[in-house]
Amino acid sequence: MSLAYDAARSDTLAARLDAELRRAHPRTVIEAALETFGDKLALVSSFGAESAVLLHIASRVDPAIPVLFLDTGMLFGQTLDYRKQLAARLGLTDVRDLRPAYQDLATTDPQNKLWRTDTDACCHIRKVLPLDRALEGFEAWVTGRKRFHGGDRLNLPVVEPSDGKVKFNPLANWTREDLEAYAAENDLPAHPLVAQGFASIGCWPCTQPVEEGEDVRAGRWKGLDKTECGIHLVRAPGAANNVGGDI
Ligand code: SF4
Repeated sequence: MSLAYDAARSDTLAARLDAELRRAHPRTVIEAALETFGDKLALVSSFGAESAVLLHIASRVDPAIPVLFLDTGMLFGQTLDYRKQLAARLGLTDVRDLRPAYQDLATTDPQNKLWRTDTDACCHIRKVLPLDRALEGFEAWVTGRKRFHGGDRLNLPVVEPSDGKVKFNPLANWTREDLEAYAAENDLPAHPLVAQGFASIGCWPCTQPVEEGEDVRAGRWKGLDKTECGIHLVRAPGAANNVGGDI
């Protein structure tokens, strides 16, 4: 099947599903995604500050849904602990740790210092390429992005086409208050760094706590002209690199 055919098919399907689901509860969105794509559906999670809500909802629909976790090699130790504890608590049975390819690290970032000089290239080998490889066997994926995060996410649809696949954003409509209420109602454990002021949590070199009144993602790549890691950009066929987009 050609990439052009895939793109046209995913465009049409995503538009139809978005029309049906744009006001649906996140659980309904995940149920529809699973009904449509079955074992060709994955969920991508950072196990970050707000991840427990989406993972909890998904686990109630199907705890065996494949969960893809980008272990960049630069994550906080607290995130690695949280990933294990939360997966066990929610009964998730198929969490897959995606790591950068040894060859990519050896040729591009042998000293693990690329983040100091080229964050786009670092995100490319540690996030974009591992996710691309992992998604090869899937036709659709679920993300935890929300509109209230602002920036490029302000117009986020609930369902969108993405490189010949379909991407579901079940929490697109939810507010910070919705998330907090759901987490409290279901007694979900918070990422340990939230108590230290981290509102959005990625790799340790590129994540800082946020000040009162700052945007949720203000602590990511602070001081750089970069707000996203690159995994959500729709790329032209054959494109080798990208910028923009995060879990
Ligand atoms: S967030 Fe920072 S350390 Fe992590 S992959 Fe991107 S540039 Fe590298």
